[in-house]
Amino acid sequence: MPHAHVIDGKATAEKLRATIGEVVKRLKKDHSLIPGLAVVMVGEDSASRIYTRNKVKQTLAAGMHSIQRDFPADISQEELAKEICSLNKDHSIHGILVQLPLPQHINPNGILDLILPEKDVDGFHPVNVGRLGSGISSLVPCTPQGCLLLLKEVRSDLTGLHAVIVGRSNIVGKPLAQLLLAENCSITIVHSNTPEPHKLCLQADILISAAGRPEMIRKNWIKPGSIVIDVGINRITTNDGIKRIVGDVAFEDAAQVASAITPVPGGVGPMTIACLLRNCVKTACEQQGLSLPHDIA
Ligand code: NAD
Repeated sequence: MPHAHVIDGKATAEKLRATIGEVVKRLKKDHSLIPGLAVVMVGEDSASRIYTRNKVKQTLAAGMHSIQRDFPADISQEELAKEICSLNKDHSIHGILVQLPLPQHINPNGILDLILPEKDVDGFHPVNVGRLGSGISSLVPCTPQGCLLLLKEVRSDLTGLHAVIVGRSNIVGKPLAQLLLAENCSITIVHSNTPEPHKLCLQADILISAAGRPEMIRKNWIKPGSIVIDVGINRITTNDGIKRIVGDVAFEDAAQVASAITPVPGGVGPMTIACLLRNCVKTACEQQGLSLPHDIA
């Protein structure tokens, strides 16, 4: 049975983090600049807590400054807004990240829009969204950026390829479409109202799924020889009661027809945090009037 090349996101992310670590050392030595990240967490969601802990840990491991601000689930919109404004004024903090989802009573856009665009390491502020859509250099959301870097590991020139993206969220599907358009791909976006989504997926040279549907995509959705990037992170319990994390793609099945594929875990996930660190170095350099060092540009 043929088996696709497995795209090793863990190794690629490790390499990127090591390069970022070197850049941070140089920034400290040559410019006394220590890039600083603030991670804001509201409530006790256990998955979010693991993500934020990893973000802080890896930021510190790269030699950067990092703080975590934890707030109770019942914090008011006004109080949270005040905290964001105080981080905006803090000169030791160059990047601010608010871990999503926020509790129901908080309007997330009302909070995200308060982060200064130049500190918006997630790339969710309307200014950065607009810049990305207009093809102007911007802070790009981390997960789509990670997907692109992994695609480039397999194929440096994506010109003319047909990319099908499953999912149209603001944090993955939409920005990914913009990034791939800028790489000269033709784009199709499939979403929950698309009839017969497998028929469109079957036309993809590049198939990227960010739907949050465990193992929805099987080999009969995949054009032979295509590149498959699986963004989905789904927690399932198997029939024998074992808890596992799986992607949106049935990995072993899909690997029989794809030419290259990312695993879950160990694919896009590690790239997301590495791209977050890169964005934070970028914001720190820009705030000091420095250009982004060429090794991570
Ligand atoms: P979301 O719920 O905001 O969006 C899901 C999208 O998928 C929607 O646009 C919806 O229309 C589409 N969709 C849902 N079911 C579908 C179906 N049956 N057919 C076609 N389209 C369908 O989710 P999100 O925040 O974009 O995240 C998507 C997945 O990616 C989740 O599993 C999430 O955990 C994962 N994720 C992973 C990372 C990472 O670092 N690897 C980062 C962000 C999100």
